[in-house]
Amino acid sequence: MPLHVEIIAAEQPILTSDADVVVAMTVSGQISVLPQHAPLLTLLAPGELRLGRGANEVLLALAGGYLEIRDDHVTILADAAERAEDIDVSRAERARDRASARLRESRSTIDVARASSALARATSRLKAADHVRTRGVTRAR
Ligand code: ATP
Repeated sequence: MPLHVEIIAAEQPILTSDADVVVAMTVSGQISVLPQHAPLLTLLAPGELRLGRGANEVLLALAGGYLEIRDDHVTILADAAERAEDIDVSRAERARDRASARLRESRSTIDVARASSALARATSRLKAADHVRTRGVTRAR
C-alpha cells in the first residue's frame, strides 16, 4: 500500500498524490518516509519535498510548515508550496538578491531573521527549479 500524500498551503490544496517514498527537509535534517512509518509530527524547514512513485518523481519547494504521518497518510501544511516546474525563477532570484542585500545592511535581529528566512525560501525555490530543469521531474496529478 502506498503512502497517501496531501499538501495544503494557505488553506488551499496544492497536491494530493500516492507515493512510495516522501523525502522532506525538517528542522533537524532530511527524512525519508516509507509506508508503515511510525506516527510523527514534525516541523519542516524551507527546502525541497520529493515524492517518488514508481519511476516518477515529483519535486516541490516548501517554505516550511508541518508534516504529519499517521496510518500511511502524510499531511503537509506548508507556509507556501510550489511545484518545481511552476516556480518563477526570476522572481526567486530577485527575492534572493533583496534578502542578501538586507542581510548585508541589517542592523536589528528582526531584520536578520526575516531576511534569512526570505533567503532560505528563495534558495529552496531556485534549487527545486534547477533540479527539475536538469532532471526532468514529472508533473503529478
Ligand atoms: P516574494 O518576495 O517574491 O513574494 P516570498 O518568499 O516573500 O517571495 P512567500 O511569502 O513565500 O513569497 O509566498 C507568497 C506566495 O507567492 C505563495 O503563494 C508562494 O507559493 C508564491 N511564490 C513566491 N515566490 C514564488 C516563485 N518564485 N515562483 C512561484 N510562486 C512563488
